[in-house]
Amino acid sequence: MQVISANILSDIFNVIRNYIYNMSAPEVYSIIIIVAAAVIFIILEKLFPYTKGQKVLREGFFDDFAFYTIAQSYILSILIFSVIISFVDNTTGLSRYRLFADVPIWIQLVFFTVTHDIYIYFMHRWQHHNKWLWRIHEAHHSNKSIDWLAGSRSHALEILINQTVEFLPIVLLGSPPEVIAYKGIISAVWGMYIHSNINVKTGWLQKIINGPEMHRWHHSTGKGRNRNFATKFAIWDWLFGTAFLPENKPEEFGLKTYFPAHYISQTLFAFRSFKKVKSKDN
Ligand SMILES: [Zn+2]
Ligand SMILES: [Zn+2]
Repeated sequence: MQVISANILSDIFNVIRNYIYNMSAPEVYSIIIIVAAAVIFIILEKLFPYTKGQKVLREGFFDDFAFYTIAQSYILSILIFSVIISFVDNTTGLSRYRLFADVPIWIQLVFFTVTHDIYIYFMHRWQHHNKWLWRIHEAHHSNKSIDWLAGSRSHALEILINQTVEFLPIVLLGSPPEVIAYKGIISAVWGMYIHSNINVKTGWLQKIINGPEMHRWHHSTGKGRNRNFATKFAIWDWLFGTAFLPENKPEEFGLKTYFPAHYISQTLFAFRSFKKVKSKDN
């Protein structure tokens, strides 16, 4: 028995070691930056809490961290890049034209960040108004405590759609590989920031750059839930009339309806019958 478990452990160790050895430098930097950002957010949440008394190891922490952030992200990244994007690229051959190969990296990052953010704003609005799309978005609203990690809770299908839309153009336009890594850092760190339990007051900047001031309202159970759809740039909410930023703070976060407590059942819950839900609500 001990020999078998020692073998399994050494296999796991070898898989992790090979994975790290095969990473490119930008991929290694992105992991270091994302981990460092998480540590900084945890410290700032302790120093300047938005909701006082919220614990780091809150309800759902393990599922959000181990299943959504590590396991689901890893499996989906293989599916998105090695299966879907590579299929589209092999079929169309678009990346061979290398249209963006010589565009400065910072211009590419600004371009892809802004264009994807406009897409996410309208997609997110649609998800709140369409009963099928809400099914793959409600997991994201199910946390009762909102912090740096809470945003990682997103249904696998939601991530599959949104990250394919995010990274497919980067690959097809022939951008250098580091653009993918840097875009990944921007999305991960900004995502942690807008959910973080930090009492940020950015004044007029909140009309342009999105942050916890507005996005935490989006996770509330009250009126703010169907407002503040923006992810990175709050300007879309102010432009399109969906901004909500009162003086007070939300009293409660999460869903008012039942939602399972753990990853597998949360993922399967999206496929439940609509009829059953109706009878339950009534
Ligand atoms: Zn939402
Ligand atoms: Zn969110």
